[in-house]
Amino acid sequence: METLAARAPEALDPAPPEPTPEARRLLVAEPCLGREEKAALTEVIDSGWITMGERVQAFERAFANMHGTEDAVAVSSCTAGLHLILQALRLGPGDEVLVPSLTFVATANCVLYVGATPVFIDIASTGLPLMSLEDAAAKCTPRTRAVILVHFAGYLVDPEPWRAFADERGLVLIEDAAHAAGLSGAGTLGAAAAFSFYGNKNMTTAEGGMVVARDPALREAIRQARGHGLTTGTFQRLNSRTPTYDVTMLGFNYRMDELRAALGLVQLSHLREWNETRRALTRLYRSLLQAECPEVSLPFEEGRPSVHHIMPVLLPACAERQAVIDALGERGIQTTIHYPPAHRLSFYRVHHPGVTLPATEAFAARELTLPLHPRMNQHDVRRVVTALREALVA
Ligand SMILES: *Cc1c(COP(=O)(O)O)cnc(C)c1O
Repeated sequence: METLAARAPEALDPAPPEPTPEARRLLVAEPCLGREEKAALTEVIDSGWITMGERVQAFERAFANMHGTEDAVAVSSCTAGLHLILQALRLGPGDEVLVPSLTFVATANCVLYVGATPVFIDIASTGLPLMSLEDAAAKCTPRTRAVILVHFAGYLVDPEPWRAFADERGLVLIEDAAHAAGLSGAGTLGAAAAFSFYGNKNMTTAEGGMVVARDPALREAIRQARGHGLTTGTFQRLNSRTPTYDVTMLGFNYRMDELRAALGLVQLSHLREWNETRRALTRLYRSLLQAECPEVSLPFEEGRPSVHHIMPVLLPACAERQAVIDALGERGIQTTIHYPPAHRLSFYRVHHPGVTLPATEAFAARELTLPLHPRMNQHDVRRVVTALREALVA
């Protein structure tokens, strides 16, 4: 996991003198938090109502609006959202769910939460590190019920081929949209999608997530299961004549609180602008890397819709990755790896042995994630590219 650092605006907290640009530590991801977020949190505390109230509802409506969906359900994390989706779709023991291995482990874990079996699918190629339709077709069995798509690094998976794939086989499409907040088209590919607001995502509520689902009945089942399966929420009971409730399903405590929703409303109002900054920084990275580090390959074609969640590059096969990580680290530049493939993690090697995914393994062996977040500027990008070039010739 990346280290997360929130620097307060100087206006509120007198900060030590700014370090010289060369000395400033560049992290892979940094949240943008400041005066507006502090004011929003203060307002919630002063209001005396701290969970499941008007701000959660307002955040749900605002998020749904941005993604062109009818409504949304705020939850405690993207992982909780995925669990609720699979549970509401009644996936369970005996069912197989196709998942990429080049993803965060939560994508596969949520399948196990409901007792179903994750089936790992390779990426299309090292140049297009999204789930392969061909490998998915090859791994379908009569027990396959659903597919979880991941918009890896913030790049949209192709909606039409996947819809056709699912329709032909009677499968449910689900999106793990953790990398895709603000991405046009994300959240509308299939039955339901879950977004993440963890601290290193494109917008954050520290911890938090959002579920969108096309079918209102599915959405309401998810909303009810979020709060212990109760038929009414605390806020509705406050304003209703009968202070009672019923429980008609097995529920969970996956609620979002008012403090997080207040943060989310502020963050959402900046999301488009931040995603534009990410786009500009990515474009600069690509042109500088092509010119100065031609031996480094850049996954994804330039025109693919994206919210540029991370900046993955592929080092040349001969490069020693750990030496590059160390050289950049010495210059105050953090880098990470996205991802150690899920099927290669000890837990999955024991529980799902014998999986081999050549393209995923080749990608993960050479991948390096460079710093990318809206607090960076063009000088930071130049600094990273220069450091990478020097590390590669060393
Ligand atoms: C971050 C992430 C998650 C988990 O999100 P949480 O909100 O932390 O539960 C799931 N899938 C992917 C692809 C992620 O990057």
